[in-house]
Amino acid sequence: MTRCYIGLGSNLDDPAAQLRSALQQMNEIPRTVLQSCSGFFASAPVGPGEQPDYVNAVASLETELPPEALLDALQAIENRHGRERTLRWGARTLDLDILLFGNEQLNTARLSVPHPRMAERNFVLEPLAELAPDLTMPDGTALQAMLTRCPPNRLHRL
Ligand code: ATP
Ligand code: CA
Ligand code: CA
Repeated sequence: MTRCYIGLGSNLDDPAAQLRSALQQMNEIPRTVLQSCSGFFASAPVGPGEQPDYVNAVASLETELPPEALLDALQAIENRHGRERTLRWGARTLDLDILLFGNEQLNTARLSVPHPRMAERNFVLEPLAELAPDLTMPDGTALQAMLTRCPPNRLHRL
């Protein structure tokens, strides 16, 4: 079993309900068990144009799937939640990112792990720290050190 952390985000069509439904469906992924989820946080959008605020959370799961099969399962859940891929970083009903996959460092055409932009996103680091305050990255960087360096952005617990 590999311990993974998944970042969840939504800013369309009742975001908190999107996240709750996504968590249920993540627990139904084959050879995978949902372990826990952080609280839900509201965050300011970072993408293009005017967008509603996001609701974000981080979930931990244990899986026997290889990384790309887990990505397939997560993208299928996004699609079932009406995810449309138009503008990069545009508003979306559901976004599921693999933040960490065990201690692996991956760079394939479909998958970069650890998620390459997590260090600059307090809406990822804060909920992750709620689940795993003592976590270290595969390169040895402490999550707490990343939090200290992360640029501030409007974020509050719901
Ligand atoms: P960002 O990656 O900056 O958070 P995004 O989540 O809006 O942006 P998407 O449009 O959801 O980006 O995903 C684009 C592609 O990113 C996906 O099709 C997937 O193949 C790839 N990808 C690379 N690394 C990861 C990862 N760690 N988790 C999820 N998708 C990833
Ligand atoms: Ca994302
Ligand atoms: Ca994504």
